Amino acid sequence: MRSEIPFFPPDLFEGDRKVMLDIIGEIGRDPRQKFILGEQTREFEELLREDLGAADVIACGSGTTALGLVLRAVDIGPGDEVVVPAFGCAPLAAAVLETGAAPVFADVDPRTMVLDPESARRRITHRTKALLPAHMFSIMADMPRFTELAAAHDLRLVEDSAVAQGAVLRGTPAGLWGEAGVYSFVQVKSFGMPGEGGAVVTRDPALGRRIRMLRNHGQQERFVHRVIGTNSRFDEIQAAFQRYRYAGFPARLRRRAEIAEHYTERFAPLAGQGVLAPPPGRDGRCHYVYCLLAEERDVLREYLAEHGIGSHVYYPLALPHQAAFLPWAPADERWPNAERASARILALPIYPHLTDAEVTRIADAVCEFTRHRPRAQAPGTRQSGTGAARHDDQ
Ligand SMILES: *Cc1c(COP(=O)(O)O)cnc(C)c1O
Repeated sequence: MRSEIPFFPPDLFEGDRKVMLDIIGEIGRDPRQKFILGEQTREFEELLREDLGAADVIACGSGTTALGLVLRAVDIGPGDEVVVPAFGCAPLAAAVLETGAAPVFADVDPRTMVLDPESARRRITHRTKALLPAHMFSIMADMPRFTELAAAHDLRLVEDSAVAQGAVLRGTPAGLWGEAGVYSFVQVKSFGMPGEGGAVVTRDPALGRRIRMLRNHGQQERFVHRVIGTNSRFDEIQAAFQRYRYAGFPARLRRRAEIAEHYTERFAPLAGQGVLAPPPGRDGRCHYVYCLLAEERDVLREYLAEHGIGSHVYYPLALPHQAAFLPWAPADERWPNAERASARILALPIYPHLTDAEVTRIADAVCEFTRHRPRAQAPGTRQSGTGAARHDDQ
C-alpha cells in the first residue's frame, strides 16, 4: 500500500529534537533564569538584521501582534482607513480594526491573488492613511507599484511579509519594501518553529525603537512607560532554536523552490483543462504554499485524498464575506477575483523533506485527474465549489 502524503507533516522538527531538548535544559538551568527577551533573542534579532541589511529587527510574540505594533507605530488610529486585500488571512483586517481604523477591502489579481494595485488605487479616499499589501502563498505583492502609489498619495506603506521571509524582489528582501514588514514563525511558515513568534523588520531605526517599546508595555527602562504598549515578547528557548535552525533555512527554501518549479512545469499544459498553476518565475517568489486554481476544486481535492495526498484550502471565504468583517464590506461592492479565488484555490504539499518520488506522485495525480475528467470548461465559464467545501482545517 502506498503511504499517505499529509499536507501538514507531523515530523517538521524531528531532525532537531535533540537540539531543542538540549536548549530547554540549558536555558532552564541557567542561573539567570531569563526566559524572554534575553541574550538569545538579542542574538537572533542581530542575526536576522545583519543577514537582511535591515536597520532593526524586533522579535515579537507572533506575526499578528507584530503587524499590530507596526500599524500603531506608524500612527494608524481612529478615523483612518487602511486599504487591505479582500483575499487573505484575518489579521489583515483585524489588526487594522484593533487600532480603531477601518479596513477598506480592495480586490486581488486573478492569477497571483495578491492585492491588485489598480483596485487599491480606486479605494483611496481623503481618509486613507496607509496601504497594507500582503505577499500571498508563493508570490510577493507588486511592491514597486505600491511604493509609487504610497508616494503619490502621501500614504504610509506597511508590508505584510509574514509568509515571505527569504524572498527577494528586484534585489530588495520581502519586509524591507515597506516602512516596516513582519515575519511569522508559526510552525507552518517557511521559517516556522514549534510555537508562536514573529518579527518586525524595518530600515527605519526610529520606527524600530518605537516598536521595541510598544512590544514591551511601552517601556524603555523598567516601569517607565512612555507610550501605551502591549505584551508581544519573544521566548528565549525559541530564539536559541531559531538561531540554530537559521543556517539550514536557505537550503530549505531552495528545496521548496525546486518543488514549486517542478509542479509549475508539470502543470503548465493543464491551463486549458481547468487547472491553473502560478505563473513561472523566480524573482519575488517565496514558496510558502503552492496553490493551484482549479475549476473543480472540491472534486480534485477528493481525488487527491483518494490517492493518499493531503491538500488544503487557503482561504474558503474572502475577507469581506466573513461575518466579523461584514460591517466594513459595503453591500453594493464586489471583489470578483477574491471570490473566485476562494472557490477555486487548492494548496499542494511543498515542505522541503518531501522526497522526489513523493513530488512526482503528487504531480502525476493532478495530471491524471485532468485526464479522467470530462473536458473542463475554460476558467471562468463555470461556477465551482458548489457546496462541498470542507471546513476540517487543521
Ligand atoms: C501567518 C500570517 C500572519 C500571522 O502570523 P501569526 O504568527 O500566525 O500570528 C499574518 N499575515 C499573513 C499574511 C500570514 O500568512
